[in-house]
Amino acid sequence: MDEKLIVQGGRVVTPVDVIEADVLIDGEQIAGIVAPGSVPWPGARVVDAGGCYVFPGVVDPHTHIQLDTGIYQTSDDWQIGTRTAAFGGVTTVVDFATQFEGMTLPEALDARLKECAPAYIDYGLHMMVTDLPRSPAEACCWLEELRDLGVPSIKLYTTYRPNYYADDAELLHTFRAMPDDMIAMVHCENDAIVTDATARLVEAGHTGWAYHGQGRPPEAEVEAIRRVMHLARAAGAAVYIVHCSTADSIRQVKKVHASGNTPPVYCETCPQYFWLDDSRYAGPKAEQFILQPPLRPEAYQVDLLDAWRSLSAVSTDHCDYTLAQKVEFTDFTRTPGGLPGLETSFSLTYTYGVHLAQERQAAGEAVEPIPLPELARLVALEPARIFGLYPRKGAIQPGADADLLIYDPAPEVIIQADGQHTIAGYTPYEGMKVKGRVRTVLSRGMVLVEDGHLRGEPGRGQFLRGKPFVPLTSRK
Ligand SMILES: [Zn+2]
Repeated sequence: MDEKLIVQGGRVVTPVDVIEADVLIDGEQIAGIVAPGSVPWPGARVVDAGGCYVFPGVVDPHTHIQLDTGIYQTSDDWQIGTRTAAFGGVTTVVDFATQFEGMTLPEALDARLKECAPAYIDYGLHMMVTDLPRSPAEACCWLEELRDLGVPSIKLYTTYRPNYYADDAELLHTFRAMPDDMIAMVHCENDAIVTDATARLVEAGHTGWAYHGQGRPPEAEVEAIRRVMHLARAAGAAVYIVHCSTADSIRQVKKVHASGNTPPVYCETCPQYFWLDDSRYAGPKAEQFILQPPLRPEAYQVDLLDAWRSLSAVSTDHCDYTLAQKVEFTDFTRTPGGLPGLETSFSLTYTYGVHLAQERQAAGEAVEPIPLPELARLVALEPARIFGLYPRKGAIQPGADADLLIYDPAPEVIIQADGQHTIAGYTPYEGMKVKGRVRTVLSRGMVLVEDGHLRGEPGRGQFLRGKPFVPLTSRK
């Protein structure tokens, strides 16, 4: 495809600024950002961005499309999962391949790539490493081979027995085996605290959804994060703490990161942790809010406006279990944990971090709305950099893939399950009002979503080989 295209009349969000400009697209790449109307290409196709912001397409570094945990399977597939992503303005996901029992890492990658084939958008993969050789040298060879296959990031868990759980010795072994140019994402919840709290609730007969939050207290997360950062420092490994659900967690990471005495440590949070709190477990439809880590009491809840400078990304941890799967058991220990989020993530983050923050500031509250280039950093630039996809992905600049999210900030939209493209059959944000709407989405120069319709064929998405990890130079 060598079609020339002009995205005209929008306010373009670059890594440093918001400028009125036209974006020129030649084939699959951005060719230039020029003054409005100074179009050197008569006859080129024009995409109207009047009244809209033009953001880089969202890079979601943490999704679980077509997830098989060994216990539960989500009901979506890569066609459904990437379709719902596209409607949310997400043009890249970095999802996971799982090393199931008996598999080498290349085998696990191959198996996952076959599943990914029907994707509408581009994708990278992290590897859920569950079994490395005991020999340090051999373990290192395995990881180097994985990195050379385009997967520079692995995922580890401090909980979830028996399939994913890694104890301290295993964490340390893996961190030590990691080459310097790889990074480990870690799910942090202290397994002993979670197991003990859950066992006590079960013994008391408290297995209803109302007790889900109590089974996984905030202290479990904060403790595990602190420990993982210590182990990573001992081994010289770069880590990325996934789905921070408490403000304390983010502060811990910030403190260590800013000290500069360690290998890099990054963290993310997800919209559910700043939009929702644990009162949902006491209310109706509590099953729709079961996830790990759980929603937190208000006092622990992430205040995005406090935290955005310390965050590397806002991801979704998207997990598309159907409502039927959610209600199959009324016992919180058996209800599959995870929420659909790809389609709502950007508008929720924009609404909370920009629009509502501006309203709160105008009302005299001491909050700092997220500047739009910083929003673009959190949803695209920094995840792309950390996971080796930049500069092809992550920013609007010449030479980058033409992945664009044209966002109309004017309308007020009520989120409803009805309008969603997941197969979950529900949304945890039902009835909530967001400001703005995804108007048009471009993926590698192709208009993928327009007027509420998806163009393009499944299978057009490409596997993105992540480049080896390079620490970001600036420490905040
Ligand atoms: Zn996850």
